[in-house]
Amino acid sequence: MLSQGVDACLLSVGPDLPWLVGYEAMPLERLTMLVVTHEGPATLVVPQLEVPRVVERPDVFAVQAWGETDDPIALVANAMGPARHAVLGDKTWATFLVALTRACPDVQFGVSSSVIGPLRAVKDPHEIHALRSGAEAVDRIAADLQGGRIPLIGRTEQEVSADIGRRLLEEGHHRVNFAIVASGPNSASPHHEPSARVIGPNEVVLCDFGGTLMGKGGAGYCSDITRCVFTGEPNAELREIYAVLFAAEAAGVAAGGPGVAAEDVDSITRNIIKEGGYGEWFVHRTGHGIGVEEHEDPYIVSGNRNALEVGNAYSVEPGIYLPGRFGFRLEDIVIVTPNGAEPLNHANRQLVSVEA
Ligand code: ZN
Ligand code: ZN
Ligand code: ZN
Repeated sequence: MLSQGVDACLLSVGPDLPWLVGYEAMPLERLTMLVVTHEGPATLVVPQLEVPRVVERPDVFAVQAWGETDDPIALVANAMGPARHAVLGDKTWATFLVALTRACPDVQFGVSSSVIGPLRAVKDPHEIHALRSGAEAVDRIAADLQGGRIPLIGRTEQEVSADIGRRLLEEGHHRVNFAIVASGPNSASPHHEPSARVIGPNEVVLCDFGGTLMGKGGAGYCSDITRCVFTGEPNAELREIYAVLFAAEAAGVAAGGPGVAAEDVDSITRNIIKEGGYGEWFVHRTGHGIGVEEHEDPYIVSGNRNALEVGNAYSVEPGIYLPGRFGFRLEDIVIVTPNGAEPLNHANRQLVSVEA
């Protein structure tokens, strides 16, 4: 904050608040806001009726409860003191920002990702442990999928998606974030919404799923994995395309390490897919950081010249999508260690045949 000339950090709904102090604001119209300034403890402005949810941390923040007829914006403005430049959580609601700009016309507002993004991008051992637990959980679900223990043929994408969602909860996640099941031609749509389409024999079934697991300290950490299976024996064309994708993903995983530019990991996967002849069908970036959010810094994308650091966690997930026909994506989460990028996922990365 000091180095960026930020006088106050205002955190409300969104991931920054639980990441910082372990308390998640209720996503309601009543304002919850942590005010962090350079001096003294932070102040958590919180609705009176939600005070019982707060695990008090007097060493970290003071609790300032407000009743139904109080003005919480005035309490925040007061806690900010003579701030000139304040940042708000990126995901904080516009209604709160508009009220604050009216109450504090002299304060210049920005977004907290400038201050908190680089901190959140470097995971500590507890965070790595939580990410690893999530990866192990989704690996087991991927193994069930590949082992035919999640039946596919004759069921709708929605049924299979619900099945995967249930397993995410059984495996210890407290929230399902998404469970994409894309079969046949639908697999060519990278963010396909599971539909009523019935899965048939001899089809690609692309499954991309993840949830949030509660980590130590009250913040949840995300999992995310993609595996494709084939309901039959893949022909030579499918095997060839999958081999290109497999090589691209493996090279992308191997390329990571401290000091490597994020965009270089992207160009390594992209060049292999280009050389394989499918460059125009790889229509998205190679990956995204992961932590308390499914998508966060560092983004593995052309133009991101920032060097990877020890503790960064991100996905490597190239894809090849042939519109109207089928698509493949392969995704692992990796963590940057002093010796390179270590994959947290270990589920079989081959295109497995599933006769179920
Ligand atoms: Zn995605
Ligand atoms: Zn994914
Ligand atoms: Zn992902």
